[in-house]
Amino acid sequence: PSAMRSVRVEVPNVSYDDIGGLAEAKRELIRAAEWPIRHPDLFEQLGVTAPKGVLLYGPPGTGKTMLARAVATATEANFIPVKGPELLDKFVGESEKAVREVFERARANAPAIVFFDEIDALTPERGDSDADAPERVVSQLLTELDGLERLSDVTVVAATNRPDRIDPALLRPGRLERLVEVPVPDEEARAAIFRVHTRNVPTTNLNFEALARETEGFTGSDIEAVIREASLLAMEAYLSAEGGETPPLRVEAKHLREALDAARPS
Ligand code: ATP
Repeated sequence: PSAMRSVRVEVPNVSYDDIGGLAEAKRELIRAAEWPIRHPDLFEQLGVTAPKGVLLYGPPGTGKTMLARAVATATEANFIPVKGPELLDKFVGESEKAVREVFERARANAPAIVFFDEIDALTPERGDSDADAPERVVSQLLTELDGLERLSDVTVVAATNRPDRIDPALLRPGRLERLVEVPVPDEEARAAIFRVHTRNVPTTNLNFEALARETEGFTGSDIEAVIREASLLAMEAYLSAEGGETPPLRVEAKHLREALDAARPS
């Protein structure tokens, strides 16, 4: 059996508007990952090379996976998510085979975005007893990347929380040559994330600016968790209402306040 039980192919449905903030990252990804698929002719006309791969780096829960899915959605490409650790197999040959299978699957389902999450897992820890599996995966990955034509309809997007741990060979020209930072959201981005995540939630008038001010250090995924908790508080209030009129089921400012009081940025 190979290291990867199966290579999944998804048809994602994430729009850039579902992602709060990250204007710079979106712009970079549109240029580096979207245009090569949508406008290969323009690269040819100008005689410039198109990037083969992009590395998204930033703390957990800041939207890296969402961004990669949004690129696939915008380009109508299939999305092939792979976690770095899934590729590691202690049996010689199996890791390489897993990497080959990913790229075979991508070519067969082109246009495709291959998304390697946690790619830092492919860098061996110092003193790791089984240090050669990561090395074999990286070397097969380099072979596959070098074999990809520029402007082919397979694009590689990788993500990491630890850019310092990435094998520099992976970052050379013709490989993951564009580095895109995905930072912790600033105040304006946090307001946008609150807005996006409550778009389809019945609420009273919420003050997104105030919520943003009070959530310094929160990531998108922290904010999502706060809204989820506030929704449960709203449900609790709704279900425990007694007597005459049932109150409407909706998330109110006080539910968010209570959820926030219990929350900490990750
Ligand atoms: P990890 O490094 O842990 O893989 P990630 O950076 O890939 O994290 P995502 O998986 O994209 O993070 O985000 C996790 C969840 O957090 C998303 O499903 C989304 O609901 C929410 N989220 C994170 N960032 C944003 C954002 N900028 N706008 C809207 N939602 C966000």
